[in-house]
Amino acid sequence: MSDIIQLLPDAVANQIAAGEVIQRPASAVKELLENAIDAGSTQIEVFVKDSGKTLLQIVDNGCGMSATDARMSFERHATSKIRTAHDLFSIRTMGFRGEALASIAAVAQVEVKTRRHDDEVGTFIRIEGSEVKEQETVSTPVGTSFSVKNLFYNIPARRNFLKSNPVETRHIIDEFERVALANCQVAMSLHQNGLEVFRLPVGNLRQRIVSIYGANYNERLVPVQEDTMMMKVQGFVGKPEFAKKSRGEQFFFVNNRFIKDHYLHHAVSNAFDELLPKDSYPSYWIYIEIDPSKIDVNIHPTKTEIKFEDERAVYAIIRAAVKRSLGQYSVTPTLDFDKERAFDVPYSDQFKPVTKPGVMINTGYNPFERDRESKSIQTAGWEKLYEGLRQEPKTLSTDTAAVELPLEHAPSVAPALSSESIFQLSHAVIVVQLSGSGMMLIDQQSAHERILFERFLLSSAEQVTGSQHDLFPVTLQFSAQDTSVINELREELRSFGFDLQEFGLNSFVLHGRPDSIEKGTEKETLEKIIEEYRQFQTVSSPDIHRQMAAALARSLAVRRGRKLSSSEMRRLVDDLLQCKEPGTGIDGKPCSQLLTAEDILAKLKR
Ligand code: ADP
Ligand code: MG
Repeated sequence: MSDIIQLLPDAVANQIAAGEVIQRPASAVKELLENAIDAGSTQIEVFVKDSGKTLLQIVDNGCGMSATDARMSFERHATSKIRTAHDLFSIRTMGFRGEALASIAAVAQVEVKTRRHDDEVGTFIRIEGSEVKEQETVSTPVGTSFSVKNLFYNIPARRNFLKSNPVETRHIIDEFERVALANCQVAMSLHQNGLEVFRLPVGNLRQRIVSIYGANYNERLVPVQEDTMMMKVQGFVGKPEFAKKSRGEQFFFVNNRFIKDHYLHHAVSNAFDELLPKDSYPSYWIYIEIDPSKIDVNIHPTKTEIKFEDERAVYAIIRAAVKRSLGQYSVTPTLDFDKERAFDVPYSDQFKPVTKPGVMINTGYNPFERDRESKSIQTAGWEKLYEGLRQEPKTLSTDTAAVELPLEHAPSVAPALSSESIFQLSHAVIVVQLSGSGMMLIDQQSAHERILFERFLLSSAEQVTGSQHDLFPVTLQFSAQDTSVINELREELRSFGFDLQEFGLNSFVLHGRPDSIEKGTEKETLEKIIEEYRQFQTVSSPDIHRQMAAALARSLAVRRGRKLSSSEMRRLVDDLLQCKEPGTGIDGKPCSQLLTAEDILAKLKR
């Protein structure tokens, strides 16, 4: 029998390697940006078309390449950055594996134009699927311009695997921000489909952060600075009161390389300790300078994970540094975190109906169709207890015709309740006595979320936009990340009453806002929705509409900790009982509970 092992042809080997390094357009952006940085550029421009699916172009003014180097740069393991194994322990450049260009060229149509400062002419090379198609001498500015066209054109499976444009754009912005945050000394810009997303001038770190996230970040930053024999730590942490509900702005850079490190993340979170409101995450931009021989960056193909020789010491230093800055800036836990300034409107105002004067209800529309079975079991007890209280509104009939239900005819529980029979525990739980048979305990926050959720679903299902139009529409400015989420959700937002029109450089004109939202709080509400959305979105969620309704409800609902007047409580109970699922919060957990005298006796083992 003959031998069967063969060496893979280069093109195949490169494609396999590409699978590790280049997962999506954003990975190519990262590699090309890092190369531009390594080339000593002071200005880098990025142009993106179709979220990088059709074109990515990175133009730098760095050192450029000779004709031979330009040709060589596409070979696997071709690098100018290390020569010996020993060099691996003193890496200061972003790249060193010599894989990126070979990988990109294996899975795309790539063109490079490059010229060194002292050369009169430059080089042009076109390469497709690892095959050089064209090479010539051209006149071109000093520096290098890489165009990557039709990524994965020769691997349809990978191309089909790419996510929607807004999702891929977000990944690109992520990578761009990471490189931008690590290189304040380089002017950088990003354009997508002709629109400018970022224009970042040279500046210090604070200025860079502000030009990325917006002017309001200036007051949010607390500097961190620590010099030890072993390493240097500097950067910023966000003041606790600006902590986010989703992990967004958390950055570690080691020798200017962005890294992910759960252990060090823990060090920062730990330093924040009780300063943070529950379920929120600190923002931080922390830069570590350490002798390269004390770390190993060579453990991951995309180089986002590194190993420290003495991880525990690094942990201790970072924790101490963050703790000290927070202390120095006397950010103490006296702040009232539970108070949500943006939503500090009287509770009763929050109950302004989304549609008026009547609610159009499509009785055939059942947003809970899918899990009706399990839910009907949970709510079975309700039906029984509320017989009489809940004079079975027409809304719950199975008739598919839309019926109009004027608000004033809405069933009310009020007559069944005396003023003594409703009160609040710990400003969080509402207790209602029910016509002698028992009592209902209601978590005010999740109950209100349930109410708002069903309202938003109903109003949008009926295309009743419930939108308020102001005479002078406001312009709202967002971060680039938020802008891409807004674009992703634009249609959904519109169906809930947010009428946003794009207005260049991450700004929008707001032509209409939902009735239920106070004028002046639109931006904060939208930011909250975006954050909620980021936090709760599941990659494969089939029903973005429900998710949006839930995000809106969560961001507008009254919080636990808010004192409610008895009429507000009554109103809430009343509204809850009109919900299709009064017993279940929108997170699927119970939002209220019934307790009968029997239950209580049973609990007491009587
Ligand atoms: P690595 O960055 O790991 O060395 P790459 O495949 O990314 O490997 O790049 C290969 C080589 O091509 C680099 O080592 C560098 O010499 C050269 N190169 C790549 N991009 C640029 C650029 N923008 N300007 C100058 N030289 C570049
Ligand atoms: Mg590289």
